[in-house]
Amino acid sequence: MSAGTGLNAVGLIRAKREGVELTPDQLHALLGAYLSGEVGDEQMAAFLMAVCWRGMSAPELSAWTGAMLGSGIRLDLAAAGRPTVDKHSTGGVGDKVSLVLVPLVAACGAAVPQMSGRGLGHTGGTLDKLEVIPGWQSELSPERIARQLREVGCVICAAGQELVPADRRLYALRDVTATVESIPLIASSIISKKVAEGTQALLLDVKVGSGAFMKDLTAAHALARTMMNLGAAYGVRTSAWLTPMDEPLGRAVGNAVELSEAIEALEGGGPEDLRRLVLEEAREMLRLARIEADPELALRDGRAATVFREMVLAQGGDPDAPLPRGDSLALVRAPAGGFLQGLDALAVGTAAWSLGAGRSRQGDPVSATAGVLCLVKPGEAVAEGEAVLELVGDNRAGLPAALAALEGAIRVGASRPPQQPVVMSRYPAN
Ligand code: URA
Repeated sequence: MSAGTGLNAVGLIRAKREGVELTPDQLHALLGAYLSGEVGDEQMAAFLMAVCWRGMSAPELSAWTGAMLGSGIRLDLAAAGRPTVDKHSTGGVGDKVSLVLVPLVAACGAAVPQMSGRGLGHTGGTLDKLEVIPGWQSELSPERIARQLREVGCVICAAGQELVPADRRLYALRDVTATVESIPLIASSIISKKVAEGTQALLLDVKVGSGAFMKDLTAAHALARTMMNLGAAYGVRTSAWLTPMDEPLGRAVGNAVELSEAIEALEGGGPEDLRRLVLEEAREMLRLARIEADPELALRDGRAATVFREMVLAQGGDPDAPLPRGDSLALVRAPAGGFLQGLDALAVGTAAWSLGAGRSRQGDPVSATAGVLCLVKPGEAVAEGEAVLELVGDNRAGLPAALAALEGAIRVGASRPPQQPVVMSRYPAN
């Protein structure tokens, strides 16, 4: 029994360990006691581990998410004056979708309040990519977010300290106690932040494959369904999709190179897989926002590119500044001729990370120019010895590790592989 509120933390941990369903009051009290310091990290870590093994029932998950939400503020986006809709991706290699999608959906009439994160490990972060633009700021006050949504229609910024502070503490603890990989803990972490952000509708992109956080298809389906139901329980119209992440999305992996590819896509070009996924996601977001508009037209007629420029300017960035370019450090060539069958996303992401594009610890700096360019994509013909990957950057120190990561990453076969769908499964909001 702890001294402050009389909460029996040991009893709650034991009950969870034994698979007993906890009440909403017990879950609220436990998280409250943790945040006030009455329950220590060691007890919360034990509780989180028990959740990893026992899971949470739907009522438990809803109550836990509510307790997390109650730790901070909730933004009110009514002043945006348009339907709000956001997207969240669980992260992948070359995933620059938000950079195109957010201004595109805003150009079609929705308000998109995207609070985003920085990359960790081999997956890149949207904020790291935008920070390549001179002057661009990720930290905005709630008042500025609301104003920008009204005036520009979209914002991509860091989640402020006041938004679900419980998640920051719990995530740091999960990171060092092997308790990140738990469906209820991931779902409560993501959905609490999206509910606090104030969006009315949400598209979740759960990436599955070697380069994704979720490598297992069954677990990815369970996560998608859990988040869809949890979002709906909090009044957010939520669709959840599974999309493939066995190969990088687009041709560029790295901060400046991905930003540059996203700008190409905003101007109506860019790689086909990126363009197809962006358009599919834009249509779903507009359906969720109940807006009838053609996103393909908004790419073609320049409206999406204009909104991107306005968003960059509103956040202090110079949209006309030339993007930094790295040196060409090495080429990786096809081991045989034929058709490229596979290009392992994890290997390419790890190579880009080794060159400096990603970080190992939160707060580490990242290189703007480091990255990997996929000169040939799966499905395309390739000659023996032809360059498939180009490693770029401004620091050769990571080159041996990057080249080692890419060993065996390129698979060539005699026949053209079938084109992969850009969306594997859909759980549409009701
Ligand atoms: N992303 C989050 O925001 N939270 C998690 O728990 C996992 C991934």
